[in-house]
Amino acid sequence: RAKAQGRGRHEVFDATMHASTIALLQLENDLRRAVQRQEFQVYYQPIIALDTGRIAGFEALVRWHHPERGFVSPSEFITTTEETGLIIPLGAWVLRQACLQLQQWQTEFATYPPLTMSVNISSTQLSHPDFSEQVSQILQEVALEPGSLKLEITESVLMENADAAASLLEQLRAQTIHLCIDDFGTGYSSLSYLQRFPINMLKVDKSFVTNLGVDEESSEIVRAIISLGNNLGMYVTAEGVETEEQLVQLWALHCDYGQGYLFSKPLKSEDARALLEASPQW
Ligand code: C2E
Ligand code: MG
Ligand code: MG
Ligand code: MG
Repeated sequence: RAKAQGRGRHEVFDATMHASTIALLQLENDLRRAVQRQEFQVYYQPIIALDTGRIAGFEALVRWHHPERGFVSPSEFITTTEETGLIIPLGAWVLRQACLQLQQWQTEFATYPPLTMSVNISSTQLSHPDFSEQVSQILQEVALEPGSLKLEITESVLMENADAAASLLEQLRAQTIHLCIDDFGTGYSSLSYLQRFPINMLKVDKSFVTNLGVDEESSEIVRAIISLGNNLGMYVTAEGVETEEQLVQLWALHCDYGQGYLFSKPLKSEDARALLEASPQW
């Protein structure tokens, strides 16, 4: 009896495994097709300079409009594109789109300082030997000032391949591209890497920002990150700002930039342009 039960469980386990394997293969297949059929779109979320309240730049966030499933969130497919290597063509496409878009907006809206564009970079892209070359090629093609481009990398990606990352980041930095640590505070941080890598910006993870003004610990963590960043010569951006209360706290802490639904959700290109047009003249 026990044996029969055991086998029954085994079969159920197999069946679920089987179903999830099929779902994964389906997803891979759909993603390959999506790259070819251009089902992806880049959305842009404004990043606000908190001292002036003006739009300093945007973060490019990829969107997938699946023909049957509709909108699919990046959290559901980025990992698969990394595992299958599809992030290489997809990431290059996002980077080129975002750079082209920024070049257009910089021409149309000649602000000072110039608008910037932040682009998320995954571990697979970073460990690709041609990455730095690819980035500089895109910047040249698009005729974009490298100082306007910010690459967002998470702590865990840096730590995974620290030696390769160090020389790559130096190459990018030499091109005057800016480097940001995304979701800061959530990785396993040995803070020594902040000295080791040429980092310009820390993005405080949303989880700390959410509880600003709610619990004292979150406020202390955000305060500590801001002073750590500033003391090391880095700017600090708060992610996921949703309420006035959080904004008031961020002002009090002298946080440099903010990003979140309080200011705007990620927008389609036309809507982001309209927002720029409606913004106060500089
Ligand atoms: P991320 O880089 O940390 O991006 C911020 C995420 O928070 C975005 O989710 C954004 O829509 C969301 N967000 C912004 N403000 C708020 C807010 O006030 N409240 C809440 N609840 N959420 C907010 P999204 O667009 O779903 O992207 C999720 C993650 O997928 C990104 O996290 C990034 O890690 C990854 N991702 C997105 N686009 C790309 C891409 O082109 N390449 C790569 N490699 N990864 C990407
Ligand atoms: Mg990001
Ligand atoms: Mg982030
Ligand atoms: Mg995040």
